[in-house]
Amino acid sequence: MKYTSTRNKMLNISGSEAIVRGISEDGGLFVPVDFPQLSKNVIIELSEKSYEERAAYVMSLFLEDFSYEELLSYAEKAYAKFDGDPCPVVNIDDGLYIMELWHGPTCAFKDIALTMLPYLLTAAKEKLGIKDKTLILVATSGDTGKAALEGFRDVKDTDIMVFYPDEGVSRMQQLQMSTQEGGNVYVGAIKGNFDDAQTAVKEIFADKAVEKDLKAKGYSLSSANSINWGRLLPQIAYYISAYCDLLGSEEISYGDKINFCVPCGNFGNILAGYYAMRMGLPIGKLICASNINNILTDFFNTGIYDTKRDFHKTMSPSMDILISSNLERLLFEMLERDDAKLIELMKELKATGRYAIDKRLIEDRFLGFVAGYATEDDTFDTIYNNFDIYDYIFDPHTAVAAYVYNEYILSGDETPTVIVSTANPYKFSKDVYAAISEGSETDDFSAAKRINLLTGMEMPEVIENLRQLPVRFEEVFDKDAIKNKVFEYTTR
Ligand SMILES: *Cc1c(COP(=O)(O)O)cnc(C)c1O
Repeated sequence: MKYTSTRNKMLNISGSEAIVRGISEDGGLFVPVDFPQLSKNVIIELSEKSYEERAAYVMSLFLEDFSYEELLSYAEKAYAKFDGDPCPVVNIDDGLYIMELWHGPTCAFKDIALTMLPYLLTAAKEKLGIKDKTLILVATSGDTGKAALEGFRDVKDTDIMVFYPDEGVSRMQQLQMSTQEGGNVYVGAIKGNFDDAQTAVKEIFADKAVEKDLKAKGYSLSSANSINWGRLLPQIAYYISAYCDLLGSEEISYGDKINFCVPCGNFGNILAGYYAMRMGLPIGKLICASNINNILTDFFNTGIYDTKRDFHKTMSPSMDILISSNLERLLFEMLERDDAKLIELMKELKATGRYAIDKRLIEDRFLGFVAGYATEDDTFDTIYNNFDIYDYIFDPHTAVAAYVYNEYILSGDETPTVIVSTANPYKFSKDVYAAISEGSETDDFSAAKRINLLTGMEMPEVIENLRQLPVRFEEVFDKDAIKNKVFEYTTR
């Protein structure tokens, strides 16, 4: 499988190159030139395999420069860091399933890809004969940062720097990052929101002077954000795995469609589901759920993508985004891979903060997507209601999806649906506790204790231990100072 760029269809590079480069020089994102197809026999065979084998198989279809055995060994190492099955599917009601993607080392779905990416990146560099050290720069709204730090800590010839919006992440997320261990890590908080952090980091990637300075020090830059193909690829596997699980337990028969409902931010998670659908996985609808930063809802319902709106801080901070980078990859497909038209739209976005496409492009070619959003009150009530009805607790991100699912089924669609659950509720203990009880706690650890008493759900050790870990990173600075931090850290 070769890769091309959303902004230059003439480009033709290998999977290793796509992973190492992260983003195309033309500013576009790497996409596979086509989608390998999954036959009925393959899906049935996979349903008898372990998660690691499923993941290795799916990745091998896209990475011809890696062998299946090699990928299997990476999957085994990566997912050994999980507590049991990496992507279990839990049945909570007739035709309603929750895929829990938060059993990894940092309790969020980002672990699925970020435990794998270091193996893919290290091997890809080796295959290409690249000897440079890698400097990974990450802008995070909370979960990517911690998962990337954990994935890359003490990885040979690699340094990682993470920037998060000060006061734009949950207390647990902040503690997880500021207490990060490892000799090759740096964490800083910037004044501003996630989009500010993301824009500042993107500017560094485009800064020739920085590139030159790093090169002289033996570094090349790379990204662990979800624009990297190495982030998306491992995510395709869990959509296929969920289908296999439902086949294996005879909840469905081969060919039956299932829906997925996904809490969306940068659009990487649901895009992986879309790619699984393009590979022939029988998916009915992909339900895109947003919080009140509902730019994606508006886009799917009107064809207009308009960033000129207020940015809201919510209790689902990983979805507080106005610029969903991965939407560009879907747009590329919507435009039937017309790169010139895509460049036009991206120019318009940059110049005016907005673009519009013919709504029929969404409807005609993408019967698969529907979209909705939840307000903060909706989210809060959903956490309470689901605890009340199912004795099951959702974190606020997943609760957004559960609310949008409940609204969606009013349309009468009875297709079995998997809600993609993206974080362990203990990561957002204060809000979750307030939602499921009459009380409130100002301290996150006290709230977590109370959730445990009230629900009996086990508190993850990594969360419990946070309280005792020494804080290593406390710097807060203006976003313009990022460049200097990069300079300092790479001269240490
Ligand atoms: C990152 C994240 C999301 C959003 O996922 P995208 O791939 O950015 O759309 C949703 N929920 C949680 C908990 C996350 O960490």
